[in-house]
Amino acid sequence: MKVLLHICCGPCAIYPASLLREEGFEVEGFFYNPNIHPYSEYLRRYEAVLAASERLNLSTIYHRYDFERFLKLVSCVEDRTRRHSLCWRIRLEETAKAAGDHGIGAFTTTLLSSPYQDIGEIARLGQEIAQGHGLEFIVRNFRKGFAESHKLSREWELYHQNYCGCIYSEKESVEQRNKKRPPDARLRA
Ligand code: SF4
Repeated sequence: MKVLLHICCGPCAIYPASLLREEGFEVEGFFYNPNIHPYSEYLRRYEAVLAASERLNLSTIYHRYDFERFLKLVSCVEDRTRRHSLCWRIRLEETAKAAGDHGIGAFTTTLLSSPYQDIGEIARLGQEIAQGHGLEFIVRNFRKGFAESHKLSREWELYHQNYCGCIYSEKESVEQRNKKRPPDARLRA
């Protein structure tokens, strides 16, 4: 059986692709991440997926970077949990559509490998979307291979990002790393 694997980044692709192949799936990659900002960061992750796909001998589809669509979707959403959910949904929806277009009966995502994401909610969304498209969403515990994947990806010298992807997460990451307060807080202090 063939499965379309949504890939969020190069390091996270390694274990899911290997595990699915061990289980007998024929795996095709699908890179669609309009949540990644800025564009220079998107290109770094895209190049890491190109390199990982080559190492893994994985055929990968590179879908369009329609970041305007993502911005429209989340720009007025203040609740971060809701933003995450919309962000996972848009990527899983597009993966399901691509699977249907290519005659692939199942799909899944490397997002299920991240210790920083709500994998229960991602699995729920994936199954809901799959049902709507008459497909199967493959749920596996990709997290157990996260450390191993990232060790190997460092040996392969793949790019490792230090924030989730969107401008909201970039701001949070900078604040956490530098313990910086935003300018308005400094002015009030
Ligand atoms: S933090 Fe990550 S999952 Fe949440 S909206 Fe931003 S890119 Fe998407």
